[in-house]
Parts: sequence; structure tokens; C-alpha cells
Amino acid sequence: MRLNTNESPFPPPEGWVEALVEELHGIEFHRYPDRAAWGLRKALADLHGVVPEAVFCANGSNEVLQTLCLAYGGAGRVALTFEPTYALHSHIAHLTGTAVVEEQRRDDFTLDPAVVAAALARNQPAITFLFSPNNPTGRADDRSLVEQVLAEAPGVVVVDEAYGQFADWSAIDLVSDDRGLVVTRTYSKTWAMAAVRLGYLIGPPGVVEVLERVALPYHLDAVKQAAGRLAVRFTDEMERRVAIIVAERGRLLDGLQRLGMTTWPSQANFVLWRPSEKPAAVVWRGLLDHSVLVRDCSSWPRLDGCLRVTVGTPSENDRFLLALAQVVA
Ligand SMILES: *Cc1c(COP(=O)(O)O)cnc(C)c1O
Repeated sequence: MRLNTNESPFPPPEGWVEALVEELHGIEFHRYPDRAAWGLRKALADLHGVVPEAVFCANGSNEVLQTLCLAYGGAGRVALTFEPTYALHSHIAHLTGTAVVEEQRRDDFTLDPAVVAAALARNQPAITFLFSPNNPTGRADDRSLVEQVLAEAPGVVVVDEAYGQFADWSAIDLVSDDRGLVVTRTYSKTWAMAAVRLGYLIGPPGVVEVLERVALPYHLDAVKQAAGRLAVRFTDEMERRVAIIVAERGRLLDGLQRLGMTTWPSQANFVLWRPSEKPAAVVWRGLLDHSVLVRDCSSWPRLDGCLRVTVGTPSENDRFLLALAQVVA
């Protein structure tokens, strides 16, 4: 049982698979795909209540991110992160020749407004990365904090909302033509489509235009465009899956606390926790012996002794809690 990569435990709806198969018959495979991916962007624009010109799509949110770094980063420019956080953004920034400055979150993984203000003033970042909810901590940043960053950051502000649908607020409402805010989303988690490799951002059309110039021509194939466009028709099913996972997340947090684990509030589809009695590596191994795979974060900076578990189906979560009770007994 794999509870280590924050995927959806549920497959996408049958109806989506059928619609996609149907769509395949109509694709002109000898022709290049729609270079602007207009149908896909229109569907996402309708979903979020923005214009299609405010949507940029790419092969996973990691390609969205790479395009952002190519466009706004580069030699002599700084990207700012607040640790601990997802390591991929620093990695991709480095690959594009962008210097990365890592500032720190508080011990409870929230951001200190004074630290944020000083970091922005000192580093003058071309790109500031926020993750809300953050991976691997699960915590979301407060709206007031994101507004502060928007007011004080000299460059582009990226809010990664890979887990945005599980949270109780979204920064998409803050996107506007006169601000350098972009919000990234992915089909990999909530939409249960990690295998499709599709991500996007919502941002000012001026920023999207710059990104379109940097992206490789025809980087979005016709099948992927159809897959993403058709998925939006199943928003109700997606929201039902999210509701189940949010309820299960509460049950997992309760269960972990009852077993004496230290936890942090999560707004995502996973929970970070710290075993108290036994070392994390022993608990991780013990769970594996029960065929339960979780993520061992204990060697990551600032995450001493921590493990992360993805919320599974109700029965998977039962099995996880049962296995954990036996491991720590
Ligand atoms: C899983 C995840 C993503 C998704 O990346 P894709 O390339 O779209 O699969 C993005 N950001 C964070 C923080 C994640 O945890």
C-alpha cells in the first residue's frame, strides 16, 4: 500500500476514460496539435472564472515552473524560498542558472512576517516561491501573509497550489493584471491524473504571454490537451473525492494524535507527523514490514524525526492506523 507520493487514492471517473477514448477517434494524428491549447485553456478559464489568456499550461506543474524560471530567473537573479519546503523548485531554479536563497520558516512551519519582510528587502528576488498548502508540512499560509509578500516582493510571486483544492482558501482570488502574482495548479493530485503530466498557472495575461514565448512550440500534445479539457466536465466527481479525502485527513490526524504522535495542522492530502517513542527510521521500517509505504522525511533539513503519510481510501487509512498502532506498541 503506497501512501508516500501524495497521489489520489481514487482513479479518475470511468466517464472521463470513456470520453477520452471517444475523443481519440477524432484526433488528426498526422497534424500538429493546437499550439495555443485554446480548448484546454478555455475550459480551465471557465472553471476559475478568468479569461483564457490568463491560463498557461505545461507538462506538469514542474514544466510550468521551469518556464517561469527560464523567463524570469537566470544568471544574476535570485529565487527566494522559505524552508522547509518542496525541493523541486530550488532544483529547477538552479538548473536555469538562477541563484537560490533559502530563508527559514518558524519551528511550527508558519512564516514570520518580519522574517519575510527582511528576506525580500535583503535579497530583492526576481522570483519568490510560496507553497500553500506547503509540502511536506501540509500547512497553508495565511491570506494576509501572501498579501504582504505581494506588496513587498520586487519580482514575480509564485504560489504553488498543487494541493489548493484541499485547503480552505486560494490565492487565485488575488491574481490581477497589475500584480506579478501567478498561482500554479496540477492535474496530478486532486484530479487523479498524475500519469497525464499536466499542470497550469493562473496569472496576468502579460505574464502568460512571456511564458508562451519561452515554452517550446507544440509542447502540449493533442491527447493531453483533450484529457485536461474533458476532465473539467467531471468537476463534481473531483469535488466529491476531495471531500472524502478532507474528512479522512481529519480521521488520520485524530488517530495519529491518539497514538501519541506529534502532528501539525494539514490543509493538504497528507499529514506530517513525528513519532515520539521510537526513531522515525524504525517506525518507517516497521510500517514497511506491514506493507505500508510512507515518506521518510527524517533526514531532510528541519524535519528531524518526521514522517509523511498520504491520505488514502478509508480502508487504507484504517490499515495504516492499525499497522502503526502495532509498530509503536
Ligand atoms: C506534487 C506536487 C506538484 C505536482 O507536480 P506535477 O509536475 O504537476 O506532477 C507540484 N508542487 C508540489 C509542491 C507538489 O507536492
